[in-house]
Amino acid sequence: MMLEENVTADITVIGGGLAGVCAAIAAARLNHKVTLVQNRGVLGGNSSSEIRVWVAGATKHGVNRYARETGIMGELFVENQYRNPEGNPYLWDALLMEKVKEESNIRLFLNTEIMTVKMQDHQKIESISGFMSGSERLITFKSSHFIDCSGDGIVAFLAGAKFRLGRESRVEFNESLAPLHEDKTTLGSTLFFYTKDLGRPVKYVKPSFARDITKTSIIKNRIIKKEDNGCAYWWIEWGGELDVLQDNEKIRDELQAIVYGIWDYIKNSGNYDADNLTLEWIGSVPGKREYRRFEGDYTLKQTDIEEQVLFKDRIGFGGWSIDLHPASGVYNDSVGAQHSVPDGIYHIPYRILYSKNINNLFLAGRDVSTSHVAFGTVRVMATCAVMGQAAGTAAAIAVKHNANPRDVYLHYLKEYQQTLLREDGAILGIKNQDEHDLARQADITSTSTLTEINTYVANAEPYRLTKAAAFTIPVDPQVNQLDIFLSTEKATSLIVKWYSTGNPQNYIPDTLIGKQKIKIDKGFNGWQEVKVNYKPSHAQNLFVVIEKNEDCILYLGNQEFAGVLSYVNNPIAELNQPELHDYSRKSPLLYWTNQLINRRNFVFRVKQTNAFQPTKIINGYVRPYGGPNMWVTNFNGQPEAIELSWKGLQNMKQINLTFNDDVNEDIINLHHHRTYFDEVPELVKAFNLYYWKNGSWKRWWSVDQNRQRHLVKEFEQPIQTNKLKLELLQTNGSQQFSLFEVRVY
Ligand SMILES: Cc1cc2nc3c(=O)[nH]c(=O)nc-3n(C[C@H](O)[C@H](O)[C@H](O)COP(=O)(O)OP(=O)(O)OC[C@H]3O[C@@H](n4cnc5c(N)ncnc54)[C@H](O)[C@@H]3O)c2cc1C
Repeated sequence: MMLEENVTADITVIGGGLAGVCAAIAAARLNHKVTLVQNRGVLGGNSSSEIRVWVAGATKHGVNRYARETGIMGELFVENQYRNPEGNPYLWDALLMEKVKEESNIRLFLNTEIMTVKMQDHQKIESISGFMSGSERLITFKSSHFIDCSGDGIVAFLAGAKFRLGRESRVEFNESLAPLHEDKTTLGSTLFFYTKDLGRPVKYVKPSFARDITKTSIIKNRIIKKEDNGCAYWWIEWGGELDVLQDNEKIRDELQAIVYGIWDYIKNSGNYDADNLTLEWIGSVPGKREYRRFEGDYTLKQTDIEEQVLFKDRIGFGGWSIDLHPASGVYNDSVGAQHSVPDGIYHIPYRILYSKNINNLFLAGRDVSTSHVAFGTVRVMATCAVMGQAAGTAAAIAVKHNANPRDVYLHYLKEYQQTLLREDGAILGIKNQDEHDLARQADITSTSTLTEINTYVANAEPYRLTKAAAFTIPVDPQVNQLDIFLSTEKATSLIVKWYSTGNPQNYIPDTLIGKQKIKIDKGFNGWQEVKVNYKPSHAQNLFVVIEKNEDCILYLGNQEFAGVLSYVNNPIAELNQPELHDYSRKSPLLYWTNQLINRRNFVFRVKQTNAFQPTKIINGYVRPYGGPNMWVTNFNGQPEAIELSWKGLQNMKQINLTFNDDVNEDIINLHHHRTYFDEVPELVKAFNLYYWKNGSWKRWWSVDQNRQRHLVKEFEQPIQTNKLKLELLQTNGSQQFSLFEVRVY
């Protein structure tokens, strides 16, 4: 007889990919008992060392500005960058394992394959059961709520949750990217490989099952580079015309044959200098992209993404392009990926995170309620992680109120969204309205505040305007005059235009507001005045374009500046890779790239701004959105302080701090690119917190090695005071101190 056992918790999470990991951590941090069941020996799903897909998200590899996720995913990005800047897949596994093991409310069951579901009245899951391989244990998991993060959605399927499979017809959701007629095809699966230079010649004899790829269309239609590794080979994709689930073994065999064949081509065709290269690793678990999408109370569709619909029940954001691949994958004659790019990051509604017909079932990750087309963007893992945190938080609220997932939408939406915000969730345009947060009633003062935007640095390099240049600046409450530092050899005239950006999360030239043609004398060198005179009804960003003029030189300095970004008019590389990428919707984002000059700025100044006032720490926002939303100090290299004071004494025992971690920087877990620093420079490294008592400041909390954005400190003893002072001593490299939010409970 096999060992049989029962495990009971408040919430059971099935699948330990990024959606499942974040769902479990979110619910556990809200004080609920969670069981996390994963059928492999490692966490991370497609991002694990078994598969090695790199974790992409809303930044879209740096195309979107200020788009990196916060919350649990943000924490993972920032910590992995510190520990594992080289992108070692095993260290990534270890980080995920550590984060789960540190939560005492989580019981983790690895190597446990869920196989059966027991229902009550066909509407509610009573329990699920699985087999723990290597241990011969049969385990039944009971809880009031379940979150299916298994990718293929095995629990939801066995429970009888309604789902979609394949591509919807164009008319069903009015989607231009959908086929005319519905069909059953999906995105295919992939195996990756890593290579290594041994420093001496090494031979390769291909196995007999390897494909001869010179006899396939791969040679003609795809680019094979010997330098590529892992996820750079995302296009080794196959199986979308089969049943990705039931034909998984057949698909794996074909993918392996292709990989060994590609490697044979690299090693033995004579077309590459690859003598010293060997295969270091080949995946054996196919990375699955798509299978069932379960139906929620809402189905996300193409226009929701492209129009950036502002859902009332938004719980997170995404920003990857709608990225659709041909079902025949690697053997297809057309491009590998077709993209549609919205003008900035878009909102994800809560109603796609639960089954519409099973009363206690949440969904997160690649099984959520979307059309095939919208799935093309939400499927990337940082977005799956955001949905995971949101589903875990919703489940916690549901358990607390003994409610079902729909009730959370109907009756507890405000509490839910405020809880997500408090946990630093990646959610846009919802303000902190927590009535328990004492900071919201405080008066705020600071030792210094940046009141001038001035990107001047002495060693800025000349930048000839052979292409147009641009920058975005916060307008708060107005911009009268803008000065641009430039020089000319000949007398010339320069055209400067300024645009509003559209939605508050967008950084594109959307609507022209004004322009000026400026006559510049021969030999001019200095500040050139532009009369902007713009006073909008509310704070927002302005996109300033300086048109191409080869006689003019701007200056580009090595100085990042909070709330300000510069751009060059240079299309992203993928627009010039017709074999691999086709863009059907081309946002201006693709042409105005910040990535090439990230952390550098053209030299300009705006003499007066309120964009960085100390009161920004209680304005409710914790990321750039229509402005920087943070307090920023001058560049004077000295410690600075911010004070919160109240009219009467307050009782407090918890402080939440949200520092600026430059969410514009595109950080990735594996090796897509190497971010040059280990700790985000803007993050405050050392600080002291004091409270006022009996006429003097008493030190309450000191930190000297911080590298995280969101810190929550619960003190053993509550205190009573009418003043708090946060003294900022050192950053991790930046010249300015910046802080998004202080909360006091
Ligand atoms: C080749 C490829 C390239 C991609 N490119 C990118 C990219 O560049 N960047 C990016 O971010 N995303 C990319 N994606 C998409 C992304 O990897 C997936 O959409 C994402 O992994 C989905 O996350 P998830 O947590 O829902 O599922 P998964 O990562 O699939 O995790 C599900 C987990 O559930 C476990 N599980 C399954 N069944 C059971 C069961 N019965 N019992 C217990 N556990 C179970 C699985 O083992 C797995 O660990 C790519 C996908 C593929 C395949």
